[in-house]
Formats: sequence, structure tokens, C-alpha cells
Amino acid sequence: MMELETMRVLKFGGTSLADARSIDAAARRILDATAESRVLAVASALAGVTDELARAADDAAAGLDRIQPLRALLGVRHIEALHGLTLDAGERRGVARSIHTTLLDLVRDLGLALEAGRPVPRVRARILAAGERLSAPLLALAVRHHGRPARPVDAIHLLRTRANADPLDAHLEPEATRAATRGHLATLPVGTVGVVTGFLAALPDGGTALLGRGGSDTTATALAAAVDAERVEIWTDVDGVLTADPKTDPRAERLPELGYDEAEALARAGAKVLHPRSIAPAAAAGIPILVRNSFAPEHPGTRIGPKRLRRAV
Ligand code: ADP
Ligand code: ASP
Ligand code: MG
Repeated sequence: MMELETMRVLKFGGTSLADARSIDAAARRILDATAESRVLAVASALAGVTDELARAADDAAAGLDRIQPLRALLGVRHIEALHGLTLDAGERRGVARSIHTTLLDLVRDLGLALEAGRPVPRVRARILAAGERLSAPLLALAVRHHGRPARPVDAIHLLRTRANADPLDAHLEPEATRAATRGHLATLPVGTVGVVTGFLAALPDGGTALLGRGGSDTTATALAAAVDAERVEIWTDVDGVLTADPKTDPRAERLPELGYDEAEALARAGAKVLHPRSIAPAAAAGIPILVRNSFAPEHPGTRIGPKRLRRAV
């Protein structure tokens, strides 16, 4: 049975999971955290993969068959990462099998979209969710490679959406999510790091839903609330939440501390570093969110928590 006290949730965005080297770096962050706390990890799709899947889904719905080239592209990308992560033949076989199974499901779903000749939200949700179902086994493997037991966990077993949820932009049902998450994680052996697929959740009938683009941040905070985590760490490619998008404003400065309400306002105004719906679950439970840079792990990042009252002087 897995104890759920002093849990920390670490989420790695696609920007932090591009190839074997960056997946291995993410695994090292997880290992560091296991020295201080129990850890649940959340994996986004490898960089650019969800965009590729969205394009393929659009093309299929428009009657354009790009299924085999996409399958080949994703196969090469993920198998290359697998081979860069381990030389162990047994590990390679096991993870390659899971990659191939996910790709077969993807081919079937793209075929369904092509046949329908129009967008079908549930099929599109499964197509886009394939990115996380491909990446989580790789991050779990990288953690095992460092000597710590780890398993991929499909979020379909943990996160529950509200009734009548939009399959492409679903809202979560916190109580059902709490019960399902606690029940499923209790089946993991003690000391095993669960590596959860970000972005996706279960519809009430068990079908796959998405939390909206960028929704893996919400996966992390919803899981943190479900297990009463001590904190959530969002590992990304910038030094934290900044005053502006550094890609468009080189003068953007890091904000060391933010209240939940301030962070939510920035996210709603378009600061892509956090999904707009990711703040609420952490705020409701009073769990701090730390935004950290995967490429500068020593950097303090941004801490989001209850707003301190500041007196005017
Ligand atoms: P991840 O793959 O880690 O989820 P995202 O691309 O979703 O990463 O979010 C990180 C990006 O958000 C940064 O590379 C940056 O360009 C962008 N961004 C936009 N506004 C801000 C902001 N105010 N502070 C920090 N990053 C921002
Ligand atoms: N992979 C998904 C996306 O690109 C979810 C995420 O990265 O947060 O939207
Ligand atoms: Mg993101």
C-alpha cells in the first residue's frame, strides 16, 4: 500500500521532455525530490507532439490521410528516446511494446476520424491524448534507470470529469477525483513513483477527455489536492512566472512570489506558463505551487501561495 502523507507532485512540461537527455534530467529532479518526500510525477507529451497530433486529427477530419507518416514520425521519435535512455534489452522490449500499443490505438482513432470526415470530439480527445500515453512510460523508465521503482499511470484511473463535460475541454469533479486517485494509487507498491499521463481525464462513462491545451498543469494541481500534497512543482523552460512572455519581451523579470489570485489573473490574461484552471485546485487546498526551470534547477523560480497582506508604507 502506498502511504499518501507528505507527497510532492512534480510536473514536467513538453518543453522539459524533448529527448532522452531532457527526460533523464527530469528523472534526476524526481530522484532529488524522493530524498525529501514521496513523489508523484506528471508527464506532458514530448515537445511538439500534441501539435502534431492536432494537425493529424484536423487533416483526418478534412479527409486527408496522413496516418502512416505520423505513425512513423512518432515511432522514430519515441523509440529513439527509449534507446537513448537504456541499454537494458528487457526494459527496451517492455517500453517499446507500450509505445507500439499506443500507436496502434492512434492509427485506429485516426482511421475513425478519416471515416467520419468531420470532427468527432471524443475521437479527437483520444488522438490528442496519445502524446502523454507515449511519454509517461519513457519518464518512468528514466526514473527506474536511476534505481528507483517507477510505473506509468494512465490518468483515466485517477481524474474524473463532471457530468456533461466537453471531451476537449473538460472540468474536473474534485470529490470523484479524490476517491479514484486515492483508490488507484493505493495499489502501487510502497516507494514506487507513479508517473501520470498529464492532460487527460475520464469522462463519467470512462471515455477519454482532455483538460484543454496546456492542461497538464491542472492534472498536477488536481492530483496534489487529491492526495493532500505538501507542494506542486511545475518544471518548465523559464525561470518562473515572469512579468511578461520572455519570448516577446526580453526585459521580462521573474516574479519571486505571487498570490493564487495574481497567478490566476496572469494565466487568464494569457501567461502560458500556467494553465488558467490549474490554480484553483491548489488554492482551494492551500497547496503552494513552485514554478521551476528544468534548465536551471538551482534557480529559485516562483512560489505561488496564499496572498500575504502588504501594508502601504
Ligand atoms: P510547458 O511545456 O513546460 O508546459 P509552456 O510552453 O506551456 O511550457 O509554458 C512555458 C512558456 O510560457 C515559456 O516558454 C514562455 O514563453 C511562456 N510564457 C508566456 N507568458 C509567460 C510569463 N508571464 N512568464 C513565464 N513564461 C511565460
Ligand atoms: N500536451 C498538452 C498540450 O500540449 C498538455 C500540456 O502540455 O500541458 O496542450
Ligand atoms: Mg504548458
